[in-house]
Amino acid sequence: YVAKKEKNKIVRYIPEMDQSRTREAILEKDLKIALEKGEFELHYQPIYDIHNEVINHAEALLRWEHPYLGRISPLDFIPIAEKTKLIIPITDWVIGAACQTVRRWEKMGIMDMTVSINVSLLSFENRGTELVESVVSGIRAAGIKPTSIKLEITESILIRDTDELRKVFYDLKGIGVKLALDDFGTGYSSFGCMKDLPLDIIKLDRSLISNMVMDEREQMIAESMITIIHGLGIQVVAEGVETAEQLTFLKDFGCDFIQGYLFSRPLSADDFAKYYFSMSKMKSTEVFL
Ligand code: C2E
Ligand code: MG
Ligand code: MG
Ligand code: MG
Repeated sequence: YVAKKEKNKIVRYIPEMDQSRTREAILEKDLKIALEKGEFELHYQPIYDIHNEVINHAEALLRWEHPYLGRISPLDFIPIAEKTKLIIPITDWVIGAACQTVRRWEKMGIMDMTVSINVSLLSFENRGTELVESVVSGIRAAGIKPTSIKLEITESILIRDTDELRKVFYDLKGIGVKLALDDFGTGYSSFGCMKDLPLDIIKLDRSLISNMVMDEREQMIAESMITIIHGLGIQVVAEGVETAEQLTFLKDFGCDFIQGYLFSRPLSADDFAKYYFSMSKMKSTEVFL
């Protein structure tokens, strides 16, 4: 290690630090042109409705194919997009593209599919009106029902529960889109702040689901959360469901929707349609139980 002087303090210099900084710098620079170069694509993960035994929701997940670094995880580039405010045009693009996919699926005979779009509301602070306008214009341009669209907001935003945020939520409800709280149970959870927001769905994070089968206390927690959420008149999606055992428990606990590799990984819009038609031919309980 070489010691390097940085503003009066000696810091240890680790070569890998430079590499990751370089990578981040490259991503930041290339993210600026990724939209116009058409490097983004949406994939869609099926969400299974336990009560009706159908796939009637899909989560749109952004994919970035970097010209020479290959597929970059949204966990890597979304934070950069937020930092640089590029998240604003990117989110607008995602909204437009997801609405068009709903339209295309309808033409293929897939009716009543609700597509969820991830929105980091934090990056829309003071731009709530623009977000609502973007959703309205995406829906109009595609000619779809507002109820086909659901916005997923991660719960970390609830820590800054401002009046503006509440207004955005109510405006979005007003135009008819659905609202979901994402990644519930990851550390910001508070049943208190969610009671004031017009939520349709809460998504239990994968971390709550993954150890459930082995651990009775985790089962107790998941079941109690589902009961409380239902008591508030909100439906529950379990995220990251990978095994039939997890599905059995969640069914038992009255969970409403299942999302995870057990059913499918995120798929391109066309592969999603194929998956949908193959699933609708059989009851999925026959497949997994
Ligand atoms: P998220 O919204 O919680 O999305 C669920 C993530 O879990 C996805 O990762 C999905 O591929 C993954 N997943 C689903 N089922 C399973 C499973 O059974 N096992 C495991 N291990 N993982 C599963 P992905 O696509 O890498 O996205 C990561 C995060 O990036 C998302 O988490 C979301 O917060 C963010 N993100 C993705 N697309 C967008 C977008 O268009 N806009 C914004 N703002 N954020 C996005
Ligand atoms: Mg999500
Ligand atoms: Mg999630
Ligand atoms: Mg999650």
